[in-house]
Amino acid sequence: MNAELICVGSELLSGKIVNTNSQFISKKLAQLGHTCKRQFIVDDNKARVSALVKSSVANCDILIISGGLGPTNDDITKEAVCEALGLELYENAKLKNHIETFFKQLGKTPTQNNFKQATAPKNATIFKNDKGTACGLGIEYSSKAIILLPGPPKELTHMFNTYVVPYLQKFDSKNVVTHTLSVFGMGESAIETALKPLMVSGGPVIATYCKENECDISITATATTKDEAEQICSNTIFKIKSILGDVIYGTDSISLAQEVVNMLRKAGLKIATAESCTGGMLSSSLTSVSGASDTVELGILAYSNRIKNEALSVPQDVLLEEGAISAETAMYLAKNVRILSGADIGVGITGNAGPTAQENKPVGLVYIAIADKNNYCIKKLELPLSYSRDRIRDYATLSALDLVRKYVLARPNSLANMRSHDDDFYFDEQAETLSATVSEEKFAIFEVDENYNFEDVEPDIVERKSDAIIDINSFLTFADVKNPEFLNTCKQFVFKHWIKLVSVFMVLALIISSTVLVSNFTHENHQINLIEDAREQFNLDDASTNEATGTFSVFDFLASKNSDIKAWIKIDGTEIDNPVYQADDNKYYQTHNMLKQKSRFGALFFNSNNTIETDSHSKNLTIYGHNTTNGIMFGGLDEYRSLSFYKNHSKIRLKTLYFQNEYIIFAVFVTNADPDDDNGNIFNYAKSDFASQDEFAKFISEAKKRSVINVPVDITPQDEILTLSTHSDEFDNARFVVMAKRIITPNEINHSKNATLNPNAKYPQAWYDKNGLSGYKEQNSSSDQDTVSSELSSIIDSSVVSDELSSDELSSTDGSDISSQPDSSTEPTTVCTHAYSDKYENKDEHGHTYICKLCNQTVVENHIFTLERVEPGYYCSPPTCLSPALYFKSCVCGIKGTETFKYGDPLNYHTPVLTIYNSDGQYHWNPCQTSGCTERINLTEHTYDENGMCICTHTASSTE
Ligand code: ATP
Ligand code: MG
Repeated sequence: MNAELICVGSELLSGKIVNTNSQFISKKLAQLGHTCKRQFIVDDNKARVSALVKSSVANCDILIISGGLGPTNDDITKEAVCEALGLELYENAKLKNHIETFFKQLGKTPTQNNFKQATAPKNATIFKNDKGTACGLGIEYSSKAIILLPGPPKELTHMFNTYVVPYLQKFDSKNVVTHTLSVFGMGESAIETALKPLMVSGGPVIATYCKENECDISITATATTKDEAEQICSNTIFKIKSILGDVIYGTDSISLAQEVVNMLRKAGLKIATAESCTGGMLSSSLTSVSGASDTVELGILAYSNRIKNEALSVPQDVLLEEGAISAETAMYLAKNVRILSGADIGVGITGNAGPTAQENKPVGLVYIAIADKNNYCIKKLELPLSYSRDRIRDYATLSALDLVRKYVLARPNSLANMRSHDDDFYFDEQAETLSATVSEEKFAIFEVDENYNFEDVEPDIVERKSDAIIDINSFLTFADVKNPEFLNTCKQFVFKHWIKLVSVFMVLALIISSTVLVSNFTHENHQINLIEDAREQFNLDDASTNEATGTFSVFDFLASKNSDIKAWIKIDGTEIDNPVYQADDNKYYQTHNMLKQKSRFGALFFNSNNTIETDSHSKNLTIYGHNTTNGIMFGGLDEYRSLSFYKNHSKIRLKTLYFQNEYIIFAVFVTNADPDDDNGNIFNYAKSDFASQDEFAKFISEAKKRSVINVPVDITPQDEILTLSTHSDEFDNARFVVMAKRIITPNEINHSKNATLNPNAKYPQAWYDKNGLSGYKEQNSSSDQDTVSSELSSIIDSSVVSDELSSDELSSTDGSDISSQPDSSTEPTTVCTHAYSDKYENKDEHGHTYICKLCNQTVVENHIFTLERVEPGYYCSPPTCLSPALYFKSCVCGIKGTETFKYGDPLNYHTPVLTIYNSDGQYHWNPCQTSGCTERINLTEHTYDENGMCICTHTASSTE
């Protein structure tokens, strides 16, 4: 808002006094976000003040008038304002009471004149004067604020901060909160430089406000709520304290003396003072605080050497040799005034306040000592020659107060440079921590980069700003650890140095994480290099044998490194091309690499139960490996979640020390390592040998039942199995297993081309639970011709795929014909067996049709119509379950990619596009979730529309 200021006072115009009110109010208004457009100084003339008020009110939203609220005849402000605004003055009970109370406290009776100050216009807001009789007034006039304040700066500033700031908020929709930090021991320019990073536009307004020897930092935050503004303020205060450290002696403090008295009272400490150059200013400032009697015991003004010696026992030789202005004299003053008074702390001050040198000691040299029962500490000031006598005395007084403050703060520890009374007197005049040369330069050494970041630079600043008077080393005795005051001191230390600590922590974290990263990287690289080296040495096709050992010679190199070597496995199209080891303990190669070094990647390893000898080996050889994302172990097995990948990479090559086999993968499944995951069952896919053909048949049946792909391959009791197992993350303890049978006749591998997805793959119960499904349901079977040999079929009655499933993919025969393709009258057939990655993007919207880059054929990825699946949500029973699928033309499409896809399928490389449209055009994902449905939806027909959209019609049939 626009503000204007009128300072009333002939003294201001005559130059007798400096208009400090104007400076204060201007700064304050700016902090509060108001713009001061004009300022006036006018003499104590009612007509002129009135005229000025009239014109100003017309021009601004806030008018502030200072001065002329006193009781004398020349105090005309209130009358002039009322005249200008056409307001009447009435006696105000509140004002009257204030005057009466004020005089009562003084033990005086107010005169009639004084009651002139008890009048105010109706509805005016009274701003109490806590420091005098002239209360301020707030008058609301045409939605404008007219504020009258007393002239004396002490009264005005306090009133403004305490009462006017909140009052002005009424005229602003925003809430403003201001707090003030008081600083001693740091100059204005140094403070501003240090706080520059915080003084950003849009942030809280930070303004410094310096008196001769002290500074105030005001922080003003504006926000929509008071709480918010308060929060902003306190955050900023925290940051400022972190930067400036203990030069800040208080928040919203009245004075340093007030803070010190409060601290002494709180700590239950009594103080005595012996002053020379300050002439009693220290005891005066302490005793000016109400309640000081609780803590101040004695104050002696020991100006002459005689009193110093006679009253305070400063030794003559000290006075003669060291001088009255000396560290030792200060120490004796402090020590002996404490003894004399019986107080807890004694403070001595001696120095040269000027105007001329004394005892050859320069003006501005001051020694301040603080002593307790056991120790003393001395602070030396070398104040600039430019300082006036008053300023030196004031500075010395404040320094003494500050020393007491720091002494109390440091408790129960001592100040860092305290020395025992029992030792010989010692004071190092040059010691940095014991002296304080006060100059702006000392604090103005921070060259701050305009763009620097607060977070980046603080540790340095904190270091330099703090007096380092608390010695952290003195904290760390074991006994102290349980001491609450010690903890408190620690807290203070942490508070003071938090940025430093955070930075150190961050650097440590960075170092640790980089070390871990580098170590991981190095570790991974090492592992990759090992395998790469081995691959270079190893030739899978080399059939030469080592006559001495009877093993393939290609293993000699690996055997020389690790005698646990048992085989080499390779799967084309994957990264799997690794040596395989075996240890007595299956855990060993989970954590050790091929050189038996500790490794989180481990090595591929055979089940310890497996026999892998020249003439015999286990019927089911199981190889384990970590599912690593970098593909160097069994991460590549994950590829078998894709049907088309499987079709093109169904062969595993295994060369053991003694024999070399190829295997065709016939089952890919997710299973469990924990019986609890499978309703108490566990499929022991790693079973290495079988007691009977039945047992083996059951084993194969179980594997096929679980497999997500149906591979039309016969498995006979004579077949040998190779099982690969790795971790999976479908659920806890999940395993991803690829099971293969040894290829006997070369064209067996072609069975994989006719593989289809198994719409009813069996998962462990944990999988159903995780997917919100009730569990596995066996399909009735009337035909088992596709998967098992006649020798085994008798025992796997429940595992076969239902002949109700009429889709082409499920109706393949033994698959011996490699060119056999899914028989679909409605879909184009495919003869391309190349990988999906070799195909051009699909031509139709739903990704069913592709052009193969290698053979240029049009390839149609077949569909699985998921409604055929016997799963809970696929049963529907009208009218209890209004299944749209019963009535509506539906479409269940395959997806763009290599796989067809179904709800709940583990083949989840692609986003499922299970789309069911009902007649009203609405989309249904899973048409019936209701339990108790008894009808099953069957696909009866599917065609493509003109957009390549799969149109499927279904009927329902009862499952009961
Ligand atoms: P009092 O009750 O003391 O008379 P007042 O409100 O009437 O207070 P004035 O009489 O105008 O105020 O001024 C009182 C004293 O306040 C002045 O003598 C002066 O020392 C100080 N003062 C007044 N106005 C200013 C100002 N603008 N800047 C600095 N000091 C001021
Ligand atoms: Mg006056």
